[in-house]
Amino acid sequence: MKVFKFGGASVKDANAVKNVGEIIKLHKDNLVVVVSAMGKTTNGLEKVVESYLNKDGKVQENLQVVREFHSSILNDLFENKNHPIFNEIHNTFVEIEWEIEDDATRKYNYIYDQIVSVGEIISTKIVSAYLNETGLKNTWLDVRNIIQTDNTHRNAKIDWKLTELLVPKVISPLLKKENQSVIITQGFIGSSSELFTTTLGREGSDFSAGILAYCLDAESVTIWKDVPGMLNADPKWFDNTIKLDNISYHEAVELAYYGASVIHPKIIKPLHNKNIPLYVKSFVSPQANGTVINENTKDDSLVPSFIFKMNQVLISISAKDYSFIMEDNLSHIFGVFSNYGISINLMQNSAISFSVCIDFDKQKTHQLIDELKKDYKILYNDNLELVTIRHYDQQTIERVTKEKEILVEQKSRQTARFVMKG
Ligand code: ASP
Ligand code: MG
Repeated sequence: MKVFKFGGASVKDANAVKNVGEIIKLHKDNLVVVVSAMGKTTNGLEKVVESYLNKDGKVQENLQVVREFHSSILNDLFENKNHPIFNEIHNTFVEIEWEIEDDATRKYNYIYDQIVSVGEIISTKIVSAYLNETGLKNTWLDVRNIIQTDNTHRNAKIDWKLTELLVPKVISPLLKKENQSVIITQGFIGSSSELFTTTLGREGSDFSAGILAYCLDAESVTIWKDVPGMLNADPKWFDNTIKLDNISYHEAVELAYYGASVIHPKIIKPLHNKNIPLYVKSFVSPQANGTVINENTKDDSLVPSFIFKMNQVLISISAKDYSFIMEDNLSHIFGVFSNYGISINLMQNSAISFSVCIDFDKQKTHQLIDELKKDYKILYNDNLELVTIRHYDQQTIERVTKEKEILVEQKSRQTARFVMKG
C-alpha cells in the first residue's frame, strides 16, 4: 500500500479538488490519502481562536469567512444541492459554534486544537464525498481514532506504542474492502488519552503521512506539491532553480532543518527507520518524476542548494563585567531561549560574547532581549538575512553574498552559512 499527502494548496478550490480526484484515480488501489485543511483555512481558524480569546467582537465574522469559503467550494463541486454533504459540513461548523459559546476560560492551546482541527475534518469530508459522488469509492476515516498523542496541545507528542497498534488494526481491514481500497483521512491532528483533539504543530500533515506509512509498512509516501519536487532554491528568491532528482534522507533533513519548506523535517525519521522512499511530486504535472528521497547519498552533492531565511535578528550577548561567557552562562542563556519557545537558527561564540541568530517575532523578540538585558550586555541587529548553502563552492558564495554586508560567516565541509545585511 501507498500513502499520499495533499496539502492545503492542492485543495484550495473546487478545481484543485477535482485535480486531486484525477491523481487518485490513476493509483486507486491500496491507498491511504492524507489531506490538509483547504487553502488558508488553518490561518482563518487561527483568527477565530484569537478573536474568541481576545473578545474583540469579530469571532462570528471571522468564522463566517471560513464558512463561506467552504460553501463556495461545495457549491462548485456538487450539482445536487440536496446532497447530504451540505448538511454534514453545516453540522461540523456547529461544533465550532459550541466551542465559542462558552466563556473563554479554558487554556489557549486546548481551545486552539479544538477549533483549528475542524479545518482538516471539513476538508476530508468534502474530498471524500466528492470522490464517492464521482465514482471513486473510498472510506472516510477519523484519524483521531488511530493517531494517539499526549496532551501537549498544539505540539502533541505521538504515543508510538498505541499508534503502532491502532493504525494497522483499523486500516488494514478497510484496505481489504473490495473496490473501495482508498482511505481519505486527516493530517495534522490526533487524539489525547482523554479523547480530546490535539494537533501536531503547523505544517504537521507531512508528519502524519510519515506516521501512517511507518505503522503500515507502506511501499512509499508521495507528497503532492505545487512545485516540481525539491528544488535547490526557493523560486521566490531565485530564477534558475534546479530540481533535485534524488537526495538522501540525511540531506532532506538537513535542507528542511535549514529552512527548505517543501517538506516538514519530522516526516523523515519514520520513513528512514523503515527505509520507505518519499516522493515529492507536482500535482500540476502528476506524471513527471519529481524528487525521490531515499537512502542513496551518491547524488547529494551534485548541485549546491540555497536556503534563505528572511527577517532575522542577530543578538550578541556578553557579560556586563567583560568576563568570559562560560558554560554556566550558556546554560542560563539557553534556558531563557527555551522558556520563550524561541529556536536558534545559528550561533557563534568568542571569548567574551555569544551571538545568536533567530527569527524576528513581533511579541517574543523584545521580551527575550529585555529578559537577557537583566544579566548581560546585549547588542542586536534586525532585518537581516540568513543564507545557508549546502555543497557550496566559491562561485555560489560570491553569487549569494554579492553587495551584502556579512555579519557572521560559518563554514563546514558541506555547508556555508552567512548572516547578512542589505
Ligand atoms: N493545515 C495545517 C497547517 O496549515 C497542517 C498542514 O497543512 O500540514 O499548518
Ligand atoms: Mg498547509
